[in-house]
Amino acid sequence: MIKTVEDFDLKNKKVIVRVDFNVPIKDGIITDDNRIKESLKTINYIREHEGKVILLSHLGRIKTEEDKVKNTLLPVSIRLSELLNTKVTFIKETRGIELEKAINNMQNKDVLLMENTRFEDLDGKKESGNDEELGRYWASLGDIFINDAFGTCHRAHASNVGIASNLPCGMGFLVKKELDNMLPVMEKPELPFTVILGGAKVSDKIGVIENLIDKCDYLLIGGGMAYTFLKAQGKEIGKSLLDSEMIDYCKNLLLKTNKIILPIDNVTSKDLGSNICEVKEKLDYDDIGLDIGPKTRLLFQKYIKESKTIIWNGPMGMFENPLYCEGTRSICESFNKEQTVIVGGGDSASAVINLGYKDRVSHISTGGGASLELLEGKALPGIEILRSK
Ligand code: AMP
Repeated sequence: MIKTVEDFDLKNKKVIVRVDFNVPIKDGIITDDNRIKESLKTINYIREHEGKVILLSHLGRIKTEEDKVKNTLLPVSIRLSELLNTKVTFIKETRGIELEKAINNMQNKDVLLMENTRFEDLDGKKESGNDEELGRYWASLGDIFINDAFGTCHRAHASNVGIASNLPCGMGFLVKKELDNMLPVMEKPELPFTVILGGAKVSDKIGVIENLIDKCDYLLIGGGMAYTFLKAQGKEIGKSLLDSEMIDYCKNLLLKTNKIILPIDNVTSKDLGSNICEVKEKLDYDDIGLDIGPKTRLLFQKYIKESKTIIWNGPMGMFENPLYCEGTRSICESFNKEQTVIVGGGDSASAVINLGYKDRVSHISTGGGASLELLEGKALPGIEILRSK
């Protein structure tokens, strides 16, 4: 069992919360503050229960001193303060006297944000390499550790696994929501169960295929990865994306199961930069397949409409270009409120949100890599360490 923030007596306690404030920032301005907003529930809960909130997050990657300037969490502290309508103390250090003093001076309900945990990566990758001393040091600053950063749970870092190894710990509301929505569906999906996979590469999705192929009734494959399957069937795929090392894998899978449904037509172009496209059932040697065609959309919709449970990862085409987003849109349109629909992170999540279909799905996972690993049936180190306590 994993404890949640609700299982602790928080009064007078210094609660270290690992949040995911890895937000896009351009010229010092936050362009999407959703991740900050999503952390508010856990922060507010701790404040309502008279705890002291010490926030830790990474932002971007830190390889040089210049990266530190670009990736300071200072703009996040300002936005967080606006959203909470309270003062947020920002500490420019990731260790040392200033940080320790500020924490020791905190009153109940106070909120403090420490500078980007990955500043420690400049010194021998201490954060990303889960340096033991660093995990112990950060843990020494608090009484309780709460992990609410689902997006980093597939990695063992000092700021999640390292701290959790040294303190009473549990999960925040955001991580709980991810697990509550994803795990039961994968363990016992209501049938018929359809998995939809798309995106660029077969090799990125093998783990998901292997974990879900026996459990699902149908596996619909679109996007760039479909062309490696079509090539395995001996079809002409022109200049479409091909994962040549995966052709044999696809061949064997197609022999083993008849659950896989592949595109029967495509939206193609001769040139990625051109705005001329054509619907084709058979590709020529110089065609690039960039979206599923109208017949495939209807075929996929038929399977989706019959299903009670759907898990979707990866767009059906190069959806960032409006010429090739109709396949992905048609998937969104086929969902109904009676179904359980889980959208697993990354590009399919942004497609659902950007195309305006957020309300049609039951759960959109916030973590790209983390949700993919959950769909692969893997144990996530950031979660497992909470379970073992
Ligand atoms: P992934 O991260 O593997 O889910 O891949 C998402 C990316 O795949 C998006 O950037 C899409 O533009 C791209 N994509 C999907 N279908 C195609 C395709 N048929 N050809 C080229 N790129 C594609």
